[in-house]
Amino acid sequence: MSGDLDSLDLIGGKRLSIVTTADGLTAEPQVRDSDGSWRRARPGDGVAEALLALLVAAPGVSEIGSFTVHSWSARVAAGERAITVDQTNESVIVGDAAVVKWAAHLLAGPHPAPRRIELLRANGFRHMPCPWGLVTWRSEDGAQTLVAGVDEYLPGAVDGWTWAVDLIAAAAAAPGAPADELMAAAADVGAVIAELHAALASTATIASPADAQRWRAAAVATLDEARAQADPALRDLLDSRAINEILADLGAMAGTAVIEGHGDLHVGQVLRHPGGYAVIDFDGNPVLPPAERVLPIPAVLDVAGLAQSLTHAAIVARRHHRVDEQALARVERLARDRFTRSYATHLAALGHGELYDPACLRAFRLQQVLREVVYAARHLPRWMYVPETALPMLLDEGIAGGP
Ligand code: ADP
Ligand code: MG
Repeated sequence: MSGDLDSLDLIGGKRLSIVTTADGLTAEPQVRDSDGSWRRARPGDGVAEALLALLVAAPGVSEIGSFTVHSWSARVAAGERAITVDQTNESVIVGDAAVVKWAAHLLAGPHPAPRRIELLRANGFRHMPCPWGLVTWRSEDGAQTLVAGVDEYLPGAVDGWTWAVDLIAAAAAAPGAPADELMAAAADVGAVIAELHAALASTATIASPADAQRWRAAAVATLDEARAQADPALRDLLDSRAINEILADLGAMAGTAVIEGHGDLHVGQVLRHPGGYAVIDFDGNPVLPPAERVLPIPAVLDVAGLAQSLTHAAIVARRHHRVDEQALARVERLARDRFTRSYATHLAALGHGELYDPACLRAFRLQQVLREVVYAARHLPRWMYVPETALPMLLDEGIAGGP
């Protein structure tokens, strides 16, 4: 069963519809066929081009029925092609100038992205693709959710599942191989995330005891779920007392600063392009219920997400490149340290050192590993080797006296 609930008319014969599917609501670009019926548009049908034209025609904020169109700095562009990488939403590149992303699954609003992007723009954050505009839709309950986002296209951009994996593999290629480029990248990304958090510092509040309990309960629930999904060898590790002890720290975070941070930060959300680094995807954490995705987070959660993804990138590097295991473990550790130190130094230099409390860095990194176990079990079994390898590495750090 499917049906159109609402639609935003673009130029002749093109529209953006809100469609009910068995899976929930989706935003669907549509074109009118020669027989007059509407069908889902494909890249090349011109619906993304038509959205750019609407943004150009209506700068500022426009209300059109239940849709709200925010237009900041759009230009007209022509020629559509699909983004070819594996991704959850449908993105179309227009004229090598813009990326139009249609929301595949509408969140029960409010959606985190519009507010975060607006704040980052207003506070002059430079390390993201320039936002051109976005479209939200108001459902019957009055909440706004994101249906389409338009950003500047960054030619030559690759995400960290490419750039970090390659730099880590190169640095570990031979004992004594130079790691300068990897270390420079880790330091640069640390500075970028510090700037991101500084730009969101105006949202800072203080975590309540209930917040801290929620974080701990969520981590324990993820642990239980990982246990339920794991094979016997992994389950043995998940049963270790150390895990519960590490996660218990999260319950003691009441009083820490929280901000409306990224919420789903990992190397895949950091593009490397000829102009530097750009953070993308402000949709919040997809594994949380929609209402929790907008809640503020401690800055260390973002730092942990990015740091742990460097470990995961190293594990991917080991599978796909001929690298020495010892060398890999060494560069992985060095890169992670360089990233976190650079982050802390830059954040302090920007006057916001109080936002970062590293006490729970390891607990949130562990939570990230557990989430990857659940994700792999549910959606991507061939990814399971990553958390399976990461978990003993993380637990061994404590024994070795690491941070
Ligand atoms: P999803 O929600 O589907 O994960 P993302 O916004 O994270 O979508 O983008 C998926 C991929 O598209 C990125 O990993 C990157 O390769 C590419 N991409 C996204 N935005 C841009 C951009 N502004 N310029 C160039 N490539 C981009
Ligand atoms: Mg993404």
